[in-house]
Amino acid sequence: MVMDHRDCGAYRELLGEDYAKDAQKETIAHSTRLMRLKSMIVEKYPKIEVETLLMSLNGDVEVISNASIAQEETEI
Ligand SMILES: [Zn+2]
Repeated sequence: MVMDHRDCGAYRELLGEDYAKDAQKETIAHSTRLMRLKSMIVEKYPKIEVETLLMSLNGDVEVISNASIAQEETEI
């Protein structure tokens, strides 16, 4: 299981953007990276099941998939 969280200081630092103002952009930023990581893990350990999640600061957890990226993009 890999879990990212919203309003992440590391993401802000690395990407130079404050995603607190734009939740959709934030979802895409995390989703693309989580999916990249997932495919790297699966490539190396094909039998492992990888769950990718994004948690909000209020404790809500979203399941992240390739659809998370596409869905957010079509909404913009
Ligand atoms: Zn963080």
